[in-house]
Amino acid sequence: MKNILSQANRDVLEELTCSRLLLAFDYDGTLAPIVTDPERALLRRETRELLATLTKIYQVIVISGRAQADALEKLRGLGVREVVGNHGIEPRHATDHHIAEVRRWRPVLDECVAPFKGVTIEDKTFSVAIHYRQSREKKKARAAILRAAAALSDARVVGGKQVVNILPEGAPHKGVALERERNRLDCDTALYVGDDETDEDVFALDQPGRLLTIRVGAKRSSAATYYIPNQRAIDDLLRTLIEVRRRSALGRVPPPALGEVLGFMSLMWGVDHALQKTSKRMETALGVTGPQRLVIRIVGRFPGLPAGELAKLLHVHPSTLTGILKRLERQSLLRRRADPRDGRRSLLSLTDRGRVFDVETEGTVEAAIQQALERTPQEKLRAAREVLTSIAQVLGNSGSSESGCRDDESARTQSGSRHARRPAGVSRPGKPPSGRGR
Ligand SMILES: [Mg+2]
Repeated sequence: MKNILSQANRDVLEELTCSRLLLAFDYDGTLAPIVTDPERALLRRETRELLATLTKIYQVIVISGRAQADALEKLRGLGVREVVGNHGIEPRHATDHHIAEVRRWRPVLDECVAPFKGVTIEDKTFSVAIHYRQSREKKKARAAILRAAAALSDARVVGGKQVVNILPEGAPHKGVALERERNRLDCDTALYVGDDETDEDVFALDQPGRLLTIRVGAKRSSAATYYIPNQRAIDDLLRTLIEVRRRSALGRVPPPALGEVLGFMSLMWGVDHALQKTSKRMETALGVTGPQRLVIRIVGRFPGLPAGELAKLLHVHPSTLTGILKRLERQSLLRRRADPRDGRRSLLSLTDRGRVFDVETEGTVEAAIQQALERTPQEKLRAAREVLTSIAQVLGNSGSSESGCRDDESARTQSGSRHARRPAGVSRPGKPPSGRGR
């Protein structure tokens, strides 16, 4: 193990802090000193102040063995992005099954500790910690606890500093929680600091370049790569992390940590901007905008499609669609005819000229989407589809009236049409696309 605070390892931190970095800390023995009464394990004032500064310039989370509510209380007001409790189980993997397991274990454990004065069971609903720090018979108490724990079914026993942790077998551990939060908070790298046995689940991930692991106190058997000499040195580490990022901000500027909601919105605006830009480029190169081409592609696939059905497929109000259809008709790309069974409905089909455009074409929105989809695994596509559907549903339910949406859409479509207007007789779209077949 190497001392992360030594001058020789400063470069390691500097390199890491220039990435989209997640800082993750254990609580007891790492951010807070270990004390006899776990309830009194609080951050020193200096640590609090440093942590409050750190959360303004990094994404910071805490992954603790404590119950989440307990750890949250102790970290209130410091700007920590997430507090994961119960060694990785809370909040996202807490289940009734885990509660039932812990309840089932309690009578056995209560009986086991009864003869030992000073041994306490901390029932954290989803796991149990048995503390023997205050016992005068530490060795005997520990042996008895381990014997009782070993007899429990579906239990994972993890030792600690004068504590035995008993967790439901197969429940997510701190390593699982760290990876989940790194993904969720859209970070590429992570730095984790911990001091005890359950932190080894993170240290054991062994992801050079993506994860830097630091143990509080050097220990030969630990899987952590680096160490800080003792708990007090956490302040030096926090101070160093603040310094290196502030300095790097003068040179290489790391991307700002927007947070989950703003970061997602920024992405969506990015997509919207790219769609508008590509649509304009398509209009210049091909003579049709992105929305117009989408209509051509859908009608080409379903000749005779009613206009109302097309509006549903495009998630727009029928009046919004009218502008697009009129423009395509003017360009002799689309034909509308009355439905013989219901004169109020109009059925859509492509003209011969329109069919020329109904082929895969470079430089279109759909070509870009196809390219992006092809390099994305199916499971991620499924997840993206779910998120986009959910956003659309929530936005749709958030009070904006349909007519309000229609006005916005109509205005945009009409403005697009204005840009696209050409003198009558000009036979744009003039450049039939170079087709690659359907
Ligand atoms: Mg700890």
